[in-house]
Amino acid sequence: MHNNNKDLTLGAPLSGPVLTLARVPDLVFSSGAMGDGIAIDPLNNTLHAPCAGVVVHAARTGHAVTLRADNGAELLLHLGLDTVQLQGEGFSMLVQEGARVSSGQALLRFDLDQVARNSKSLISLMILTNGEHFQTLPITLKSVKVGEPLLHIVPRATNGAQAQASDTSTDEVEGQTRVNHRGGLHARPAALIRQTAQGFSSKAQLHFNGKSASCDSLVSLMGLGVGEQDEVRVSCQGKDCKAALLALLDALATPLAEDAHAAAPVVKAVAPQRPAESGVIQGVCAAPGLVCGPLFHLTAMTLPEDSGGHPPQEQLQALDQALEKVRSDIHGTLDHARQRKDNQEEAIFAAHLALLEDPALLDAARQSIGQGRAATHAWSDAIGEQCEILLQLGNALLAERANDLRDLQQRVLRALLGEAWHYQLPAGAIVAAHELTPSDLLQLSEQGAVGLCMAAGGATSHVAILARGKGLPCLVALGSELLDVPQGQQVVLNADQGRLELTPDSARIEQVRQSHLLRQQRREQQQQQAHLPARTLDGQEIEVAANVASSQEAQGAHANGADGVGLLRTEFLFVDRHTAPDEQEQRQAYQAVLDAMGDKSVIIRTIDVGGDKQLDYLPLPVEANPVLGLRGIRLAQARPELLDQQLRALLQVSPLQRCRILLPMVSELDELLHIRERIDCLCAELGIGQRPELGVMIEVPAAALLAEQLAEYADFLSIGTNDLSQYTLAMDRDHAGLAARVDALHPALLRLIAQTCAGAAKHGRWVGVCGALASDPLATPVLVGLGVSELSVSPPQVGEIKERVRQLDAAECQRLSHDLLNLSSASAVRHACHQHWPLS
Ligand code: PEP
Ligand code: MG
Repeated sequence: MHNNNKDLTLGAPLSGPVLTLARVPDLVFSSGAMGDGIAIDPLNNTLHAPCAGVVVHAARTGHAVTLRADNGAELLLHLGLDTVQLQGEGFSMLVQEGARVSSGQALLRFDLDQVARNSKSLISLMILTNGEHFQTLPITLKSVKVGEPLLHIVPRATNGAQAQASDTSTDEVEGQTRVNHRGGLHARPAALIRQTAQGFSSKAQLHFNGKSASCDSLVSLMGLGVGEQDEVRVSCQGKDCKAALLALLDALATPLAEDAHAAAPVVKAVAPQRPAESGVIQGVCAAPGLVCGPLFHLTAMTLPEDSGGHPPQEQLQALDQALEKVRSDIHGTLDHARQRKDNQEEAIFAAHLALLEDPALLDAARQSIGQGRAATHAWSDAIGEQCEILLQLGNALLAERANDLRDLQQRVLRALLGEAWHYQLPAGAIVAAHELTPSDLLQLSEQGAVGLCMAAGGATSHVAILARGKGLPCLVALGSELLDVPQGQQVVLNADQGRLELTPDSARIEQVRQSHLLRQQRREQQQQQAHLPARTLDGQEIEVAANVASSQEAQGAHANGADGVGLLRTEFLFVDRHTAPDEQEQRQAYQAVLDAMGDKSVIIRTIDVGGDKQLDYLPLPVEANPVLGLRGIRLAQARPELLDQQLRALLQVSPLQRCRILLPMVSELDELLHIRERIDCLCAELGIGQRPELGVMIEVPAAALLAEQLAEYADFLSIGTNDLSQYTLAMDRDHAGLAARVDALHPALLRLIAQTCAGAAKHGRWVGVCGALASDPLATPVLVGLGVSELSVSPPQVGEIKERVRQLDAAECQRLSHDLLNLSSASAVRHACHQHWPLS
């Protein structure tokens, strides 16, 4: 659900003079029919996001974008007047539907001259489309520059979901209206109707053609098949039924902005009409590439006949368990996507999660279970019916959502039947199917499929988006002929040219293999560069090391060109076991990491357990606030013998000068001095004359603020931006709802990083970064500019970050990055970084 309780300040999406809507020479906008908002007469050529949010609609004609802000406000950004008529000429859309964008991100670019010459006006609009929940308050009517505060969005006082749950009033009203949404009640207008209904406590239903749908269910609303200009009936029951009815009638009768201007051309993946060529099936490219391999058919699961008479209670329980399993699998996929910052994958599976909770589907399945049907069949039928409805509406975009439903059908069936969800693919297979689902694709890519082809499907489908993201060549809309190609036949998938070649001769296969080889060679060249030092254009060397958790990972990092290990998280040795590793076992494990790194140095962090990471054999008190409790170096206080044992193991690796010890969660100088003392004592006991370098993690704001004092006694400082963000911003680093905001490029963190570097410099110490920010290429110039000289990144990114360093001028980074400390938010910093140091 949206958080409708938050005010929001929108930055200017364009630069130029600001106008009230009343001054816009277009009645639809000036009358406020579209909603409240503001206009700008643009002087620049790029439209930027006024706030962070999700792109809920990107006009195919490239002239408009609708964003949903994190507080639920929906904003239409419309470039020029009557520009839909240009049919995309002069516009280039930079974002895709479903993508998450940050505040200030470029959304679409336009040719100022061309659009000005060929349209009524360049005056552009920012309109709040869900004004029933929010109102707008202009901040300025002067000229603005991109990003400057332009409009406040404040929530209207509504009785939300809470009231809804307790609304038992039997008051009921009905009304009728004509649906004015272009193309009828497709996904976006249906979503608007649902959103409108959710603003009231009354229950609302939409009735059409003898069928009814709850306004809470997107699937049911779309499934009514309401077309443009169809007459529908709305009924509302509850305390605020009159207000709800008026709002819903208004939402049904008021077309969405783009729809009001032009029919959105429906993107349908139609195979290009080319003369038939024997031995070739023509399709549509969904993801580019050229590969060859054996064809492998993937068939969907089918169910045997159901004789009925199943005990409902048992079946309901089975369905609930299966749904729970799929939900938790999807949550896993979402977490993974978030970690990789894969916004598209995240958006797709978040939508799956929402569909899985759709009341229309669940009610239909439960009802049929109540009549004695097996859970498998009840679920399968419920989804099947909805798919049929969506497919019959003759709308390609809705038909593609049917594929998402089929994905959930198969996943829940697999969970119900307890089948392992695993395909056995031959090596280097090209997978063929009627239509693949998003979760098939993740599985197939993990199993080493080299290409995908589908009889059906569309180039705008979720599967296509995922295939592009994974670099898997993919053809769609090949037709049923594909399904007749024999299993195992060698084929060439030329996705670039939309061709599946069924009978390639050996010369052709060789040619494709060669081109594949060439690509690999290019990658290898990049890999070779990865072993060279990373120097900025003006000659400053930045060490690019890797974060690892085992000697195997260290081997991988070394092979990838890492200049060392910047962080070995030793927790791996302690967790998931019932007894503590003894000194000997620890020493061997640390030595193995040193050995894996050749002559490079390895930074080994002492154990960071406690808090939420409990060890079976090390009972620590239960904590009310685990992340603020006995964790990291504070363990020395609770279990000093455990830390001594680890230090002894570390002091005995060889050569000791390649081993640097790093202390986590330090918050005051005494902690460092105490460990120095312990090391001296242990060295005396062990007869070791040498001392390893000792560093402090800067991951607690107190440590950053005391960097100068710490640097006097530490050999180096390493900034843990993950925890430093968590503790500085007071946001749990694992909080799903705050994930987008726990951003280490926040100016407050940049100030702490700058202060850390300045403190270290006073004592001639070096500073590294081992938190996730080090692996973000957008942050590389900022960190270099603030004085960081070592970046410890995830092993596969060593080459990429080294290449980024080589493109930078350190003096310029220094000059520009200090200004970022004065910006107002992480997104403003990200925006500025994109402008100063664009990613290639
Ligand atoms: C950090 O906090 O940034 C860090 C590198 O440590 P960890 O992620 O292991 O807490
Ligand atoms: Mg940490």
